[in-house]
Amino acid sequence: MSESTEKGISRRDLLKLAGVAGVAVQAGGLVAAGIRAGRSSESYTGWESFNPGTQFFDRRPFEFEGPAHRPVSEVRRPSHLTDYVFGRVAAFQQAYRAHPAWKPGEPLEALGMSAQLAQFYRDFPERLEWDFKTFTETVPNNSRDKEKYGNYYVLAEAYEAGFSAHAGFLRGPSAPPEESDFPGPDPFGRKTRPPLPFRTPALAADFVKEMAHRYGATLAAVTKTNPDWLYSEGWRGCPPDYDFSRMPAHWEYAVVIGVPMEWDVVLSNPQFGTSNDAYDRVSTAAIRLEGMLKFLGYPARSHTPLTNYDLIVPPHAVEAGLGEIGRTGFCITPEAGGNCRMAVVTTNLPMAVDKPIDYGVARFCNKCKLCAESCPSGSISMADSPDGMVIRGYEHWYINNGSCYNFWRETMGPMGCRLCVAACPYSRKDNWIHDLAREIDPRDPTGAVSSGLLSIQKHAFEYPEAAEYHRPPGGRFASFRPEPPYLRAEKYLNIPINKPGK
Ligand code: SF4
Ligand code: SF4
Repeated sequence: MSESTEKGISRRDLLKLAGVAGVAVQAGGLVAAGIRAGRSSESYTGWESFNPGTQFFDRRPFEFEGPAHRPVSEVRRPSHLTDYVFGRVAAFQQAYRAHPAWKPGEPLEALGMSAQLAQFYRDFPERLEWDFKTFTETVPNNSRDKEKYGNYYVLAEAYEAGFSAHAGFLRGPSAPPEESDFPGPDPFGRKTRPPLPFRTPALAADFVKEMAHRYGATLAAVTKTNPDWLYSEGWRGCPPDYDFSRMPAHWEYAVVIGVPMEWDVVLSNPQFGTSNDAYDRVSTAAIRLEGMLKFLGYPARSHTPLTNYDLIVPPHAVEAGLGEIGRTGFCITPEAGGNCRMAVVTTNLPMAVDKPIDYGVARFCNKCKLCAESCPSGSISMADSPDGMVIRGYEHWYINNGSCYNFWRETMGPMGCRLCVAACPYSRKDNWIHDLAREIDPRDPTGAVSSGLLSIQKHAFEYPEAAEYHRPPGGRFASFRPEPPYLRAEKYLNIPINKPGK
């Protein structure tokens, strides 16, 4: 019997075609199943478990000899007064309250602010524009919006208040590092002791990371503290005339820890989300770690969201190999993406340090731009690369934290936005489709996998346009995904409720 059909197609070809069609059908099924899994609300990142196995991504294939950051111009330390948005807006608000007749265009000195802040505003006039708008327009509008619609968001604020209430029990340092960081008599009367020596720095690092996980950290890694990323002034417990130019020698090592925010709430940003759940857990874990190190005889200081920081965390997290800096400016981790709140414990316990990793975030961010497209305030750069964006001596993506903060004051539930966390494709749940993508994409040298994933993300999922997140008219106080059922005020509360858009 002939192997050929009348049209010249062999049986073998037919079998091959059938095989290809079968593979295509299976691949289509895989994509459909993947999209279903991606939409499912039933799988979560692994923070529920304190087990160290939660930090599941094998970083070793992606390690490189650091440092991950190299200065490209003269380095300037970050400032609590200018770069730290909460410090800056508080100073601006105080100055403006004292001089409410001041108008943009008039000399900054007329606001009675410090020369340092005035110079910062001359260097970054767009931040002045946004800070002025925040307190003259956005905050008054937000107060009126909350009178009308606030009850719709009241359970989200109650949820956050629970975590904030815990903050008062976490004490930051009350004396300079040379005093407060060293072990002293503790509330239980335990005595201090000379530092207990570890067998090797590698074992010391293993032990500290194990403890960090046991204390509640999902992620933990070790690096050396970099003086470039200490705040230039205002360390906790230090008088104004303290010598801030010199890093305390016992801050040599930085243990960086992270926990993700709870998933349902992250996805309902910007109106229903909060950072405080993760702030609370990561701060608590860091303070436990500090106490443990002091018990072993080592000086330690925790730098946490609820007790404040004397250094900036993201570059330390990157040097420690927890992830890479993305377009959004935060450290994107393989396990939780950008959905990760971090803290640092500085100490002088000699530990083996972790290496930075390159698992493809920088390349992916160059073509992704989802966060920038979604950002309601236009604070995230849409450029094709961060080339030439030099911030305090290092090259990385520029974020306008003035316009970002301004939008925070427009949102209706707990203050803040975090939409860039929710929208980022790396901030995805720990289910099989995301695990698969996480493993395959960084090993694909062609970039085809990331382009495919990006296309699925952009076309298979619906999400609001950036303008919809704004207040009405123009916006509708949209959230990336609807609020979780347990934060629906109309379900639980017997109070009048105005739902926006109704
Ligand atoms: S928090 Fe919101 S406003 Fe700020 S950069 Fe992210 S998406 Fe934009
Ligand atoms: S949304 Fe895209 S561009 Fe933005 S940080 Fe995430 S991966 Fe990078």
